[in-house]
Amino acid sequence: MHVNGYRCTLCHKEFPYETDMLTCPDCGETGILDILFDYAAIKEVFNRKTLSMDHTNSMWRYRALLPVEARGWERFLRVGVTPLYRSNRLESERNLKALYIKDDGQNPTGSLKDRASAVALMRAKELGYDTVACSSTGNAASSLAGNAARLGLKTVIFVPERAPKGKVAQLMVFGANVVAVRGDYRQTFELSRDAINKWGFYNRNAGINPVMTEGKKTVALEIAEQLNFIPTDWVALSVGDGCTIGGVYNGFYDLLQLGMIDHIPKILGVQSMGCAPFVTAWQTGGPLLPARENTLADSIAVGVPRNPVKAMRAVSESGGAWVAVPDEAILEAIGRLGAAEGVFAEPAAAASLAGVWQAMDQGIIKPREQVTVIVTGSGLKDVDNAMRAAGEPFSCEPDIYALEKSGRIQYYIGIA
Ligand SMILES: *Cc1c(COP(=O)(O)O)cnc(C)c1O
Repeated sequence: MHVNGYRCTLCHKEFPYETDMLTCPDCGETGILDILFDYAAIKEVFNRKTLSMDHTNSMWRYRALLPVEARGWERFLRVGVTPLYRSNRLESERNLKALYIKDDGQNPTGSLKDRASAVALMRAKELGYDTVACSSTGNAASSLAGNAARLGLKTVIFVPERAPKGKVAQLMVFGANVVAVRGDYRQTFELSRDAINKWGFYNRNAGINPVMTEGKKTVALEIAEQLNFIPTDWVALSVGDGCTIGGVYNGFYDLLQLGMIDHIPKILGVQSMGCAPFVTAWQTGGPLLPARENTLADSIAVGVPRNPVKAMRAVSESGGAWVAVPDEAILEAIGRLGAAEGVFAEPAAAASLAGVWQAMDQGIIKPREQVTVIVTGSGLKDVDNAMRAAGEPFSCEPDIYALEKSGRIQYYIGIA
């Protein structure tokens, strides 16, 4: 492991890594930590040559850049190495030079969260924990449950009683120990925190635990490698707590330190207009203020983001931008990704493409630039909104004459 220590994102004090502390002891719960890497040592074992000879078909091919010893990674679910598709159709529609889609819905439990869960579970094992806990309404929970099941680790997962059925079904199938809390998400989060303190579970609460960001950075490492270390001008993704976008920045930052890329792409942070605390703070130049959570994109309905410093830094240090998109544009993007390329995105995942359109309308992304959009989760997570985006099928009696009379097939095949 090539880690030099922790540094607090607020007070910048440094701490040794050999402890299981999660946040800065001086700054408290908001004192999110950065993990500092020893790039000189990493260069010795990780470079384009070693990578080209490494046939590991998962995110563990980047283990030299992860804050874990990573022994026994072969037993984990296969997380990462998801496809990167170039979309000729979507790029010519908007006069982009290139548009790539990174489909992270293809991870084992259907979202990018698997990258964080895998590293969190490795770290929990290395610190000697046998039970991992988190609170979440969705992807973080099902991801933790699935990846822990494979490893035989116990989970205790807190969800609000009204959590979406599909995601609860994943939890139950993966055999998680689920506590459905009769209360809202804030109360669920607080109960999980109290239980973690009382019983001493490993805490996978996203945004707080710094190894999450490092797991998620593997998506950026993959994008770079898949593009032969010449990343696009922009990388766009949706933002809730801010852990994922912080990870994307860290991944490109690492590669820049190692001399494997010559610039960090501009990062476009996308939020829904119904819940856009980062966009508002960026536009007004003011502090981050709590926002209402009024969007159908449940995975980014985060009114009080828990990882603000890493998220803001990702956009400002990369020379990127923040945009907000209406829910209707998110639904439209679900349809375009599906019909143009066969990629099925959940609302929060399609928001990245809607954000690119919005940024082009605002003159932020220019024609002929190159863009990568990250699809962070599978549309099968949320079929109700998928049907809202795509509509209902034509309904027909089981009778060939009725079918012919309807003119539907003639219309489908263009002979109407
Ligand atoms: C969690 C999640 C996000 C946002 O990630 P944050 O780290 O909360 O900013 C975006 N899309 C999907 C599908 C997610 O599950």
